[in-house]
Amino acid sequence: MTQFRKDNILDRLVIVNDGNSVDMDDGNEKHGNDDICIYCPGNEHLTRPAVLALVQKEGMMRRLSDTEDYRVDDWCVRVVPSKNPLVSISANGKYTNKPFYSEPAYGYHYLLIASREHCKPSSIPAEQWSNVLVALQDRVKWLYMQKGVSYVAVYMDYDASNVWHPHLNIITFPYIPPLIEQEVESINRYINEAGSCPLCNMISMEDKSPRHLVSIENFMALCPWAPTHPYEFWIVPKKHAIQLLRMTQKEIDELATMLRVMLGGLYNTLGDVKFSMIIHASSEKSRKQLHWHIEVHPRLVDSYGIEGFGVHFLNISPEYAASRLSFASRRELARIVGIT
Ligand SMILES: [Zn+2]
Ligand SMILES: [Zn+2]
Ligand SMILES: [Zn+2]
Repeated sequence: MTQFRKDNILDRLVIVNDGNSVDMDDGNEKHGNDDICIYCPGNEHLTRPAVLALVQKEGMMRRLSDTEDYRVDDWCVRVVPSKNPLVSISANGKYTNKPFYSEPAYGYHYLLIASREHCKPSSIPAEQWSNVLVALQDRVKWLYMQKGVSYVAVYMDYDASNVWHPHLNIITFPYIPPLIEQEVESINRYINEAGSCPLCNMISMEDKSPRHLVSIENFMALCPWAPTHPYEFWIVPKKHAIQLLRMTQKEIDELATMLRVMLGGLYNTLGDVKFSMIIHASSEKSRKQLHWHIEVHPRLVDSYGIEGFGVHFLNISPEYAASRLSFASRRELARIVGIT
């Protein structure tokens, strides 16, 4: 079991495991001592029943789910409860007050298995990313209808040394997570003062900047002006949009192309690096809104120490990172849309 705690000074939210260390789900779980991957097709019975199994049949997409006795085996995307959840709907620990604030870490934690095969995220085809996004929309929508869910957090954590099936984590919180709260507050203050959204402004100002990477009809990829990680890039809807839930099928297909292009571009620039891909979107349970975006943080350096003051040091400029990433990602785009 895990619990939420808030620290004595900042009210910073942390998740603490009650007992000994737990393994994180990393998409290569082995079954017992056997060298069997529980996420491979044919081994569906080794995981808990899938809450969603997307099946493509005769041009139709079917949304199925497993039962205790029956597992869907011809899935293209599968969503299963996490084996080592960070939050749980059966959380039942103690509540304690400040200055030692804690409460049971209540929530849902799913893994969305994004590939039937063992592969790198950069080799997932655009069509499969579309399937992943359809499954993601389905789950996020369902989760926002559940009690005790104020925010649905979605991220991918990739490390070639232990990830066999690229996957997304979907975790719910009874709070808006602190960084989302900060972005929301800051965006809303800017909107009140300047009358426009800072991300909408950024899209129009970065269009021809040295940080611009790739643009397609509804999305732009760019290296941000002041990143926290070397080679960090963002994928942002060009029009003001607050939730990926509201994406149309056309926008889903475009974003899928963008993910293929940018993760391919990252791979062709830096090789098989560790990275986190985080979706920052508005909460469906809050009126305060955020222009949603995806942040990709390559993890090339551990830390310099200065992060301990909340200040980041970048040993290469975002403009230099962009010059390398844009070359690789534009070549990827040309390959995908069939221009040579
Ligand atoms: Zn496998
Ligand atoms: Zn905006
Ligand atoms: Zn953000």
